[in-house]
Amino acid sequence: MITPRRISLTRAPDLAAFRTTLTDWILALSYAQARDTCVLVPTRAAAEQLRRTVEDRALSEQRSAVVWPVLTTRRDIYDELASRLAAPAKLLSPFEREVLLAAAARAVTASGLTLPYEARPALVAEMLALYDLIRRLGRSIDDFERNFRNELEKEQDTDRGAARLLEQTTFLAAAYRAYETRLAALDGCDEHGLRERLIREAAVRPVQRVIVSVADRLAEPDGIWPADFDLLSRLPALEQVDMLCTEGLLAAGFIERLYASFPDIESGAVTVARRVRPVLVTPPPPPATTTAGTHDAISANYRDREEELAAVASRLKQDRRDGTASPLHRTALVVRRPLPYLYLARDVFADAGVPFETLDTLPLAAEPYAAAVDLVLDAVAADFTRASLLALVRSPHFDFGADPAAIAASDFALAEARYLGGLDRLARVVGQWSAVTAPASREERRRQDALPCVQPLLEAALALQPLCRLAPLVEHITTLTDWLLRFDRTPAEQEQTRSRRLRVRGAVLGALTALKRAYDRHDPAAQGDAATLSAAIRRWLGSQTFAARTGSAGLQLVDAQSARYGEFDDVQIVGLIEGEWPERTRRNVLYPSSLLSLLEPLPAIADPTQRERDALNSARAQFRDLVLSAGQRVRLSAFALEHDAVVEPSVLLDDVAGFGLVTAVHEPASSRIAYSDAVALEPRRAEVLIGDAAAWGALRLSDDRRAPTRLIGDAGAWRLPRVSISRLELYLNCPFKFFAAQVLKLEEPPEDESIQTPLERGRFLHELWERFFDEWETRGHRRIDPDLFDEARRLFAEISERALSTLSPAEAALERQRLLGSAVDPGIAHRVFAMEASRPVAIVNRLLEFPLEGAFVFHAKDGTARTVPLNAKTDRIDVLADGTIRVIDYKSKNTPDMKVALQLPIYARLAREVLQRSGRGSVSLGEALYLSFEGNRPVVPLRPPKGQTLDDVIADAEERALRALDRIAEGQFPVRPLKKSLCSPCSFRAVCRLQIVEAEEDAADE
Ligand code: SF4
Repeated sequence: MITPRRISLTRAPDLAAFRTTLTDWILALSYAQARDTCVLVPTRAAAEQLRRTVEDRALSEQRSAVVWPVLTTRRDIYDELASRLAAPAKLLSPFEREVLLAAAARAVTASGLTLPYEARPALVAEMLALYDLIRRLGRSIDDFERNFRNELEKEQDTDRGAARLLEQTTFLAAAYRAYETRLAALDGCDEHGLRERLIREAAVRPVQRVIVSVADRLAEPDGIWPADFDLLSRLPALEQVDMLCTEGLLAAGFIERLYASFPDIESGAVTVARRVRPVLVTPPPPPATTTAGTHDAISANYRDREEELAAVASRLKQDRRDGTASPLHRTALVVRRPLPYLYLARDVFADAGVPFETLDTLPLAAEPYAAAVDLVLDAVAADFTRASLLALVRSPHFDFGADPAAIAASDFALAEARYLGGLDRLARVVGQWSAVTAPASREERRRQDALPCVQPLLEAALALQPLCRLAPLVEHITTLTDWLLRFDRTPAEQEQTRSRRLRVRGAVLGALTALKRAYDRHDPAAQGDAATLSAAIRRWLGSQTFAARTGSAGLQLVDAQSARYGEFDDVQIVGLIEGEWPERTRRNVLYPSSLLSLLEPLPAIADPTQRERDALNSARAQFRDLVLSAGQRVRLSAFALEHDAVVEPSVLLDDVAGFGLVTAVHEPASSRIAYSDAVALEPRRAEVLIGDAAAWGALRLSDDRRAPTRLIGDAGAWRLPRVSISRLELYLNCPFKFFAAQVLKLEEPPEDESIQTPLERGRFLHELWERFFDEWETRGHRRIDPDLFDEARRLFAEISERALSTLSPAEAALERQRLLGSAVDPGIAHRVFAMEASRPVAIVNRLLEFPLEGAFVFHAKDGTARTVPLNAKTDRIDVLADGTIRVIDYKSKNTPDMKVALQLPIYARLAREVLQRSGRGSVSLGEALYLSFEGNRPVVPLRPPKGQTLDDVIADAEERALRALDRIAEGQFPVRPLKKSLCSPCSFRAVCRLQIVEAEEDAADE
């Protein structure tokens, strides 16, 4: 028998009256009543806001205590009711339900029915969501199958989409039934089974009153469903149901739906008076010449969310200065989705010194420890590449016992070893490095430095290796959990984030344990590899939230649902853009809304268009309630860019003009907002900074008598340890790049190379040509003229093959083509042969890798001379039959700009001098040229400009080299690239701040 109950509706004129009524009801409860009363709110954050509102009221009325009813969400009330049964029902966790459904779906597949696609973990979650939707609408699986079949069978012969949906319906109905059968066999139930039990069985201590302060699921995402209305109508021993709602929301269509669900509901209005409306604070009116619309007149429009928050901080500070500020705990920033604002608020409000607080739960996956678990899964999925292993070892959440120097050395050493992944290869690398007891070269020393990091990393990676195999998911989760515990880095006592990190780690490990238990209990046969495991874990961590109270008491950052329960004097509704206000409804991925309408129990909303209209009207009503709920002032703001995409203002802003609000214009503050402004804007004041930052700021701002030139490249005297012409050429190309590479010795980040590095390839080519010309001259040949092309090519091919055998087959094939050419490119050999063939003078001798060592006197244009010690090698000198020499500099690709080229003219001069010193008598320079192996121009000779000689070009190079040496000795390293094109492949872009330097120079020019 159903207990007779009183179901009533209380209509509040606005949210202030809504809160007052709710607070009155709660404060009026006796101890015995409160124990058996549930107050339904949309979220846990909303419950906390309500708790504060009630406490404030109790304090203001000097009550000694508040007897709390059960403040609960729709999801949590099921747990509460279950706990009151004689044999408390055990509700399955969401983990367990998904695993159970996945197992049921696999069993259905094994019986011969198939889905038109693969049931990945995310899809199983969608299937479960559809099951919940069917059941919460009060429908059975038979209803679902019958309705959908009837509809789809009409179209299946003419519409392939309908045929696929029919196949999907047959499968899903079978899977849902299998799920229900498995569920029935278990000691546990889901929300739907529990609902049936709650209606069937009397509770030991029944709930006698339910206060419902949420609307239905069409009006709000956490609203109640038809099945919940049914439960409230039939729950044994429930005596009273009080629905509380604002007039606006009822008028937006909820009243019809409510009467359809509770035909006998009694209705009454609140006697609390409507509150005085707040003042709408607007930005200054746009200039008459702009095409701004009404939105711009009532809402401030910012560039992005960050600028919007910075303006909030600025305004709060200005209000504080003007004495018009409300207390921060009575000031609210209302957001639709807390997450994007929460991340920004941490930085923006911290920098501005504005304390803030939020009560929302955060996605667990967004916590750093959860992201670290992702790194582990990434390393397995990437087959332990260098980058993925380095990311693991650099994570602050794991401890492999490696120090930072060993980690940095590992990065370079693994790249140099061309380690591209694979634990067999990593084990070989570690074995080879460990075998070297007396490292001789720089590379070997680096490997020794890297070993203390790479060895434990190998051990850690081997512990993860079982995840790469196909195995039961239970085993995989055990392997991963054990690994996370074994290599965990416990945060130090004094670390600020210690407590939060430990809580998040507990939550993540708890989620993994729950997932394992779910597989163990419901689907022990489920197998998978690393990809399956990653998908399951990411899906789970992605759906978990973490109750982390963020920030300290201060400005309240609240979501739109919680804001209804808080008393605030000053409210700013932020992020009023399309897609958020109102929130875009998520489409069902399995069926179109026209088909889902067949499940709707209320004829009034069976039409999808009507449902959309009702949802939009509800959003409008709730927005109006929110705008009018502020005690004193309300502000509205939007922004124009989200991740560089233009976004439109919310349509809800169109309604504001009709709210009948008095407006007050507020001029935005132009003062400094953030700590960074205190030291960036004049007058600069370091004393406002906090802690060490104040001392450091004072030091930086103190007059240290450094000349301004110290800030634009003047680094102080420095001595080049060994003069090298190629380094001087680097200086001429960009002094700062020289500084970064040679003075600071910054290393360019290593890259994974499956082929030879440019340096290794250069060495390979030089050695190849040395061997070829050696053999060529041994066979009695000198110059390669066109008649000897075939023979030269044959010999070169023969020698190349010996060299290519040292490379991997893939790299050898590529290199062979580059050396010997293809149908579209004649190849490197042809370029070298053609250069000789096109010069008729016979070659007497080729001097390859010729040393240019000693002290050389360089002459400046002012007539002074300087002795420069050099130890260089030139690629090639041809001694020619006419008594001259030809100096050749090989280049792999492009030849240098002749304006800064130093190597060729200076080597040409030194070659002549060294040959003369060696007793060859007078040697004259016939020619100097660059020979490019793969650049656009194969041969680029050193040509004097009109009216000059080669000696003039050489003298000019000497002058430039001396000037560069002087400037290096003075420590002049400005950011001044010779050409902008040099910057794009440069690794030091992040440190040279070219854009800032250029902007400063432009400003100085103006
Ligand atoms: S990016 Fe350009 S300016 Fe900066 S260091 Fe490199 S070459 Fe010089």
